[in-house]
Amino acid sequence: MNTQFPIAAFKNIETPFYYYDMDLLNETLATARREASKYEGFHIHYAVKANFNPMILEAVREQGLGADCVSGGEVNAALRAGISADKIVFAGVGKTDKEIALALDAGIFCFNIESIPEVEAIERLASERNVVTNVAIRVNPNVGAHTHANITTGLAENKFGVNYEQLDEVIDVIESCNHLKLIGLHFHIGSQILVMDDFIALCSRINELQSLLRENRSIVLPHINVGGGLGIRYDAPDEYDIPDFALYFQTYAKHLCLQKGQQLHFELGRSLVGQCGSLITRVTYVKRGSRKQFAIVDAGMNDLVRPAMYGAYHKIENLTSCKECELYDVVGPVCESSDVFCKDIELPATDRGDFFAIRSAGAYGEAMAFGYNCRALPKAYYSDTI
Ligand SMILES: *Cc1c(COP(=O)(O)O)cnc(C)c1O
Repeated sequence: MNTQFPIAAFKNIETPFYYYDMDLLNETLATARREASKYEGFHIHYAVKANFNPMILEAVREQGLGADCVSGGEVNAALRAGISADKIVFAGVGKTDKEIALALDAGIFCFNIESIPEVEAIERLASERNVVTNVAIRVNPNVGAHTHANITTGLAENKFGVNYEQLDEVIDVIESCNHLKLIGLHFHIGSQILVMDDFIALCSRINELQSLLRENRSIVLPHINVGGGLGIRYDAPDEYDIPDFALYFQTYAKHLCLQKGQQLHFELGRSLVGQCGSLITRVTYVKRGSRKQFAIVDAGMNDLVRPAMYGAYHKIENLTSCKECELYDVVGPVCESSDVFCKDIELPATDRGDFFAIRSAGAYGEAMAFGYNCRALPKAYYSDTI
């Protein structure tokens, strides 16, 4: 039985809810910041989309990290949390005029642009405001992250970024714009990457590209942004509670050839917040089918969609039983066959009212919750105030 959870307090709270271990969150953020600071010019921008809960954003701000946003709403959330505009970068293939305008008015650090029509839209809106704004080109490096197809973003077939063949044209268009300053190149190859080989492959693509730009166009840009993507160990949340940030930053320091004075930006999401969150749920019924035994819990795919959407694995623990193990499918109440958290797992014999913790749910959990079946959005509780 896992004793790190305040079960007595849980018993007075309506389930399901997210529970955040704030000590682990702060230690994770501090470790990442400390490891990055060992290298000159390394900067971390927290990928807000992983979890935009205000308490999480506040912890991010306290550690002095910047923010990586993919919508106007996220830019606003970062600003509201007190993250200063000059540490905010804004990516996304479909930035609307309204979103661009709000980011320009806030004076964010940089737009990561993904197409020529977007460049034109930012130029027009910046010109109307008579401001000059920084842009970086999001380049599609055609590097495959060995991860789930839906979270691979750096292949030629993906909608993200500018392909190599179009790069010259995009640079020309930006250079013809009076209100845009090209300051960097941006990359992001995908998510939940646990082998450093994918990041090493990205480094060599960037090295090639930097040499080409330098030789063919005499361009050296002051900023390189390598995105995020560092994974977490969903199979062992307690043994690997803090990801190996030392190895991650060291990999970039070793394999990426930065030019003199060049700043390196990282956009980490999952690795910073994934392990600190759990979805806490009660068992509503134990149902014995003809071939299966189901633990039907009161959390559903609307509270945590990753298993249904990506086939993702989350470790599940029974917090209130230490009986002999039996085999269960852990399922939610939503009227969809995909509302399954885990199939055929061994759990201590379970009764109605038992508490389960669905672990490693701090990233892309609460942030992706939705209201299908008229279900209320899950609430959140924190280890320091529960
Ligand atoms: C989602 C995203 C990230 C963060 O990815 P993680 O896998 O959570 O680290 C970083 N940059 C961009 C552009 C993204 O879309």
